[in-house]
Amino acid sequence: MKRIISISLVAVAAAGIFALAQSPKEKVMETSKEKPTELTKEEIAKMTDEEWKKKLTPEQYVILRKAGTERSNGQVYKEFKAQGAGTYYCAGCNAELFSSKTKFDSHCGWPSFYDPAKAKNVKTSVDYHLGYARTEVLCKVCDGHLGHVFENELFSAFNGKTTPTKQRYCINGTVLKFVPADPKKDKEDDKSGEKKE
Ligand SMILES: [Zn+2]
Repeated sequence: MKRIISISLVAVAAAGIFALAQSPKEKVMETSKEKPTELTKEEIAKMTDEEWKKKLTPEQYVILRKAGTERSNGQVYKEFKAQGAGTYYCAGCNAELFSSKTKFDSHCGWPSFYDPAKAKNVKTSVDYHLGYARTEVLCKVCDGHLGHVFENELFSAFNGKTTPTKQRYCINGTVLKFVPADPKKDKEDDKSGEKKE
């Protein structure tokens, strides 16, 4: 009897280890060297809910298509804080959304920016999901939910003042794609003296 108990204990322990090994790792922010190719308006218009589910990770789907929120201070936030210069794109449709130039440490646990890089790709609407009005931030190209925008907050990153735009775009890093800046290309851009859009 003793022997049977010890064998079954081993089996339970082994099953536990197996379950741990099988549990999906928290998805990190997608990163690529090249600017991702934007979906066309026609492609987006044709996308069904099932197709979004297939294209996105389960967490991306819940955030972008169901206005979900990622866990604060998660792996994706740690990565965001460690990233250098670069550009952030929508994980749904690859539209350009934010630049590292306006990212800052808000200590809120989610990626924060004070201005969209391409205002034409970002829109806002008021939501009442928590019972009071908040300004929701959406990708204007694919209508994906990105996060919320808050105003007139004070940050240590700005010496106790508000941001240059008085805004904080509080964005789910899970639905961003990061493309690091190319140091060579940026030097050439500086030389030409041309101002980037
Ligand atoms: Zn999008």
